Amino acid sequence: MANDKPQVWVFVEQRSGTPADVSFELLSKGYKLANQLKGSLKAVVIGHNMKDVAKRTFKYGADEALVVDHPSLKEYNTLPYSRILSQLIDERQPRIVLFGATFIGRDLAPRVASHTKSGLTADCTDLQISDVTYLRKDYKDLLLQIRPAFGGNIIATIITPDTRVQMATVREGVMEMHELEKAVNGKITEIPYTPDPSDELVKIIEHHREESKVNLKAAPIIVAGGYGMGSKENFQLLYELADLLGGEVAGSRAAVDAGFIEHERQVGQTGVTVRPRLYIACGISGAIQHRAGMEESKKIIAINNDPEAPIFDICHYGIVGDAMEVIPQFIEVFKHK
Ligand code: FAD
Repeated sequence: MANDKPQVWVFVEQRSGTPADVSFELLSKGYKLANQLKGSLKAVVIGHNMKDVAKRTFKYGADEALVVDHPSLKEYNTLPYSRILSQLIDERQPRIVLFGATFIGRDLAPRVASHTKSGLTADCTDLQISDVTYLRKDYKDLLLQIRPAFGGNIIATIITPDTRVQMATVREGVMEMHELEKAVNGKITEIPYTPDPSDELVKIIEHHREESKVNLKAAPIIVAGGYGMGSKENFQLLYELADLLGGEVAGSRAAVDAGFIEHERQVGQTGVTVRPRLYIACGISGAIQHRAGMEESKKIIAINNDPEAPIFDICHYGIVGDAMEVIPQFIEVFKHK
């Protein structure tokens, strides 16, 4: 069923019925892309008892949820999920399909791309619609897929114009989640599903969930330390400040590598992407790989003893000084607030 109006699809990822935040981030972005294309936004929801999840997608701009519901699909399973999505793409031919760059998205998207012979750009940090007619006259309204490349030393803009569908996985936390004031009056389309014996090749026997105590993505304030903090002991100052501000502590990769802070708190290209209300960078140089994970923060304060440090190029407020002298002054001030 080819469709004239360009469609943007978002694969809505869920675990045990709970949708992933990145799916709503992608729906919000997809809504803007679909509007630019004068097209429509569809949510693809696969799982069991998915009606509520499907309805939630209308709040983020989807005008239709394609729902494949079956008890055997309750948890993500590579084979049936990739088969279902590939068939849907074959039948309905969307222009763009977006996935979160999560464990599930990174497993699913390449398989679907291979089935559908489509282009796929992994780990995007931004998506835009634009003409690229300077390359070829008919390259109109293409999806620009933007991501760090060559070890993060450049930001590449990638196009996949000559494939059947343009597909991208997008990093969690880089797109803003935006709930519409009034939900779209969308429709739920139930897609019939019959399990295939070949799906049995992979069976989920058990799930083990490792709960992390740290949720950097949800933290409104992040106090982050770099190699310039000098030691694990000095990081205690950051914990003290974060406690007073009601925030979390994070670190650069150099700080993680030096053992000052655990890996789950690393911000950046190979760590977590965050966009808190306030990011305080202490003794962090501001390498491009670190910035990739934090430069969308609403306000950035940098403390660094080198006035030439690149972090000063992106911060809103910069303090040139020794972090070990400046942070205790911050703590003193907030203790009396
Ligand atoms: P440094 O670069 O050593 O900077 C320390 C800073 O502290 C300096 O600016 C110095 O002036 C300042 N300083 C020193 N003493 C003080 C003091 N007393 N008071 C105040 N300031 C002081 N990095 C990440 O952070 N996250 C990533 O996800 C990441 N992924 C990467 C992926 C790849 C493929 C590669 C190649 C690199 C990656 N990196 C990442 C590493 C990145 O390139 C930088 O090496 C790293 O971010 C540097 O960390 P830093 O700023 O803490 O340390």
